[in-house]
Amino acid sequence: MIYLHVPFCESRCTYCGFFSSVILGVAQRSKKNLCLKAYADAVCREVDERREEIANTLSTNTLYIGGGTPSVLPLSILSRIIHSIALPPAGGSPSAGAAFDAPWSEFTIEVNPEDIVEKGEEYVRGLLGLGVNRISMGVQSFDDGILRWMNRRHDSAAAEEAFRILRRCGVRNISIDLIFGLPPLSEALWSETVDRALELGPEHISAYQLSVEEGSTLDRLASQGKFTEATEEQCREQYDMLCARLGKAGYNHYEVSNFAVPGHEAIHNSAYWRRVPYVGLGPGAHSLSAGSVRSWNSEVIPRLSADGALETYSIEKEFLTPEDIRVERIMLSLRTARGISATELRTLAGGQAVDRLLAEGALVRCHPERCPEPVEGRSGGSLRIPEDHFFTSDDIIRSLI
Ligand code: SF4
Repeated sequence: MIYLHVPFCESRCTYCGFFSSVILGVAQRSKKNLCLKAYADAVCREVDERREEIANTLSTNTLYIGGGTPSVLPLSILSRIIHSIALPPAGGSPSAGAAFDAPWSEFTIEVNPEDIVEKGEEYVRGLLGLGVNRISMGVQSFDDGILRWMNRRHDSAAAEEAFRILRRCGVRNISIDLIFGLPPLSEALWSETVDRALELGPEHISAYQLSVEEGSTLDRLASQGKFTEATEEQCREQYDMLCARLGKAGYNHYEVSNFAVPGHEAIHNSAYWRRVPYVGLGPGAHSLSAGSVRSWNSEVIPRLSADGALETYSIEKEFLTPEDIRVERIMLSLRTARGISATELRTLAGGQAVDRLLAEGALVRCHPERCPEPVEGRSGGSLRIPEDHFFTSDDIIRSLI
């Protein structure tokens, strides 16, 4: 299970707190190419150094390329990195863009609509040739005023056009991201956004409530008194509307922020929520090994120095304490519809707290035969937060840790 972080974007979205650098425009093409080459050199070097760790995580053989905006990368750079991670077929030295038997059961890449529209079908077919079988597109909204407020580079027409391009190229597993809970987002605008998402019919929808992330433009505006968050009531109404509409349309609400047509739940992200070990490659990426060692790459954009040496990120690690692991296990499992075994939750959080939440209806029993993802060894049944309490899941979880 591998995550690759691509720390480049063409512009900075108002709400974004992710580690990402705005890359140079076309006018400075040669500098941009040098920057991307240094990034690819650094990732390929890291892959070589961590080859054994990568092999050890392949029991869940997923690859997820996220960012940043991975679709700013040309196919040649992506091809080089992906072939280096997957190892080329015997006897073959891969050429850029060459198709090969990718070993991934799920290979997701995040894209932005404007890149898909600008680069077109050839780019998408190139991605499929590299083994991509799931595309996650950052749509965020279908309202042009909201998109401008977010400082997104695309408009709603581009998002729909990008979706059609993906379908024409044969992409059968598309996820789109949406954001709710923005002050200028009225109930009517949100309703229209949900309608337009459903008309497109993606296999997966992730919907996040806007939050003020440290270091974001919103953070700065908020500290200057120029931004006020939407009310909790507004956010709750929008979340409830989303859950009702997607449920009616047949989507499985399998995690607080994630909905899927049954059978299209994200394998990679579901494994994160079970604390399956993974390797994170690229600047700013995090890794988890053996369930108790967390490591992270420093947030440094690789560059070639004047004498041609590669200056790149470093890796740091920490050993998680039993308390860290307990908290993570409760937090991650209770955000899912799969929940957690009743026996385990009682051990981790104490029987009294669990009984209190059961009595309040903030936890419910989810027996193996009715569980969306039944698992062996849950003869005592599982517990989960019911969908009508998902909106307050943070408070429920906090009361258990
Ligand atoms: S939200 Fe995505 S596209 Fe926008 S700046 Fe952040 S990483 Fe880049």
